[in-house]
Amino acid sequence: MVPTQHQIQHPREQLTRLRTSELGAHVGERVRVAGWLHARRRLGGLTFLTLRDGWGLVQVVAEGAAAAALDPGPPAESVIAIEGVVTRSAQAPGGLEITAPTVEVIAAATVPPPVALGKRELKAGLATLLDTAVVTNRHPARRAVFRLAAAAMAGFRATLLERDFTEIQTPKLLAAATESGASVFPVDYFGRTAVLAQSPQLYKQMMVGVFERVFEVGPVFRAEPHDTTRHLNEYVSLDAEMGFITDHHDIMALLRDAVAGMVGAMRARAGAELDLLGVALPEVPATIPEITFVEAHELILARHGVDVRGELDLSPRDERWLGDWAREERGSDFLYVTGYPTRKVAFYAQPNPEHPEYANYFDLIFRGTEMVSGGQRRHRYEDYLAVLAERGLPAEPFAAYLDAFRYGMPPHGGFGLGLERFVMQVTGLPTIKLVSLFPRDLHRLTP
Ligand code: ATP
Ligand code: MG
Repeated sequence: MVPTQHQIQHPREQLTRLRTSELGAHVGERVRVAGWLHARRRLGGLTFLTLRDGWGLVQVVAEGAAAAALDPGPPAESVIAIEGVVTRSAQAPGGLEITAPTVEVIAAATVPPPVALGKRELKAGLATLLDTAVVTNRHPARRAVFRLAAAAMAGFRATLLERDFTEIQTPKLLAAATESGASVFPVDYFGRTAVLAQSPQLYKQMMVGVFERVFEVGPVFRAEPHDTTRHLNEYVSLDAEMGFITDHHDIMALLRDAVAGMVGAMRARAGAELDLLGVALPEVPATIPEITFVEAHELILARHGVDVRGELDLSPRDERWLGDWAREERGSDFLYVTGYPTRKVAFYAQPNPEHPEYANYFDLIFRGTEMVSGGQRRHRYEDYLAVLAERGLPAEPFAAYLDAFRYGMPPHGGFGLGLERFVMQVTGLPTIKLVSLFPRDLHRLTP
């Protein structure tokens, strides 16, 4: 019989709960742990339970009457507390187990999980994994991916704070699109149509006028109606913007440090998760190799015999080829492509003063996929009026943004880095959907 909550006998002197990660310092002691019933198996007269808490797993061994009492015992994923003795065991995962246990059911699961979570590998198709993410995200291998993402965000923040950047949160409900009008989600805003922000671009630039150096970690929304392995309809953007730069190379140096900080934080804060996933972190070179857009086209022609000169952008295949080249010829997982055609990039991109047909703009390619776009922005009011007119864009929706430039803005630039893209490339997962806690895609608005 599964005891219900009111049947639980609370021991008079309840031990303080320890985390599974703390047990190594308590060998031979009687301790209390609490978490989820991760797995259970019977072997001879013994019952082995695995308890999972927010930090790890621990094996619990019951024998005799205690083992019989656990048959069948609470269902998988029930929340339980266990008191027992921390014992060294060469066979136990992690070298420790809890013996002579008493088991208390804190909250019994009412249904079995849709996928067995107690196995090392989660055996389920992508759709099942995502549709039941509320429980499949509990699996250690899934959780590890999100811990890596958290470590990456922490490393990003730490790097920018060290350089005296101020963290900001800009509005996500906007009156007009910031990038291109096609891929925005409209929202009813008290009878008016607002849009969800596709990026913090215009606001972070305005904030350079306040702080000089700003960064933001927040959601952005892209109504891109296609199903790819590298796009989500909501993702986390790591943005920075900095004033008083010479050109985009200052931003590229900053971004290099931010990425190194992210990788370093993953190593420092999520070493166990890296081991669990078998992930090899990339080396971030002191200077990331750079190739210009024009050189990239020449290289693709020379190496692959494919002539993409005249194209205004790089395709995913081109990026893959360039990534291979960087790996083989420069020994780097990272490659900067600079100098995109001015007429291809956003209106706020600063043209190269010597060759105005190319912009002071870059993409950072990581293991063959674009991970960051950034560059130097225009900073003169009249340049904005000119470019908007040239592109046939109305100035009215940008009135507040343009005001910032009317009141004086320094040369500045910045970048936007897709968190899930980065973690997908680090972990080698086959789709970005597996890097989002609750991905928003063409078909998925729940869970
Ligand atoms: P792509 O060419 O890959 O569609 P983009 O050039 O449209 O990307 P940007 O507007 O430059 O994207 O966004 C900056 C970064 O944000 C990208 O380099 C990428 O890491 C990430 N990103 C962009 N769109 C998405 C998306 N739909 N889902 C997840 N990440 C994205
Ligand atoms: Mg881009």
